[in-house]
Amino acid sequence: MALEPPSEEENRKSQSTAVSMKKFMATKISKSSAGQKAIAHFLGAQGTTIIHSLQQAATKDVGEARAKQLIENVYVLACKGKVLFDSKLITPANTKEFINPINQLAISVFLMLEAKKKQPAKKADVTSVALKFAQMEVMLLNLLKPLIKEKNQAKVSDTVKYFGGPGFLDLLVNDMTYHEYKTTLHRNLKLLINERLEEADLMSPPRLCKKQGCNSEALEEDGKFAGSHYCANHHEEQMKVFLTEPTVHHFLVENGFDYEPFVSMAEKAFPPNSRLLYRGCANYTDASPNIRRIFAEGIFEKYLASNATHPVTCLSEACFADIHKNLRSGDPALFEPCMKELTALFTPIYKQHFMGSEAFKDYCATRKLEKS
Ligand SMILES: [Zn+2]
Repeated sequence: MALEPPSEEENRKSQSTAVSMKKFMATKISKSSAGQKAIAHFLGAQGTTIIHSLQQAATKDVGEARAKQLIENVYVLACKGKVLFDSKLITPANTKEFINPINQLAISVFLMLEAKKKQPAKKADVTSVALKFAQMEVMLLNLLKPLIKEKNQAKVSDTVKYFGGPGFLDLLVNDMTYHEYKTTLHRNLKLLINERLEEADLMSPPRLCKKQGCNSEALEEDGKFAGSHYCANHHEEQMKVFLTEPTVHHFLVENGFDYEPFVSMAEKAFPPNSRLLYRGCANYTDASPNIRRIFAEGIFEKYLASNATHPVTCLSEACFADIHKNLRSGDPALFEPCMKELTALFTPIYKQHFMGSEAFKDYCATRKLEKS
């Protein structure tokens, strides 16, 4: 006698019980200090420093107990968000919708702090930033309403309203007694934004097409086909060009960017850090105009400045001087000469060490779509 399979209703119930159990545990874990350490690891050094200085500023404003509660909300919600994402109740498409608004919000806070730093005597207007926070609150609640309890929805509102409200923002930016928190935030936000911008393409969930603005799903691995970072249309479009003219560009920023045999060849044979610089430059070109200036400065500080953390020393004097001179221009073509020089440098190495290799042939064979 066969067992009755569980009904859909039962399935749904047991799944939702499992998720609420996980959410309940998430609350417990995020309140413990070990849990906060784990979340801190997830947020990174800058994220943790930012949260810490927000807590100090809030303590000064509303007292220790209330500040502690607000920060606890941040940790609890971050942790619940992760559980919902892991349980697929928040989808990659949901997450992708938030990437741009969150980046824009971080950038607008940064630009407000930066303007104040340059003109300390001028009172900063916090209205437009507060408005962006209010929009973020609406977006978050729309997403979370069906997924979390009313009590927790209220926590989302409370937290965003406090930290993104005109009252707190005004203290933080304009009150001199909050100066140290402001400078810590400014510095860490700058580091965080630069990191994010450079990895902009890695932030899109891998199962969605990497082409900007495209919300189709990326192609899955299937039989001989190795899968793609792009949807069927964009993959085909890219491969058509690549199979006609297989340039190194495809392996630097297009679908081949993480193809292991290419990456390890480039790490050995290309000048140090040059492949990453090329990727940074390509992302800069695609970035929206309002962030190009800080993006350019970030690239310069990381790869080209005399104290760069990832120095690239293979560019010509003229190319370097030109970038340096026009660094703050916001010109979308700022790094074009640099990419040209790098391409000229990479191409002979790529042709000699990679094109025509077994790994190269294998790449072409396993990325070609059957129908084309
Ligand atoms: Zn696409």
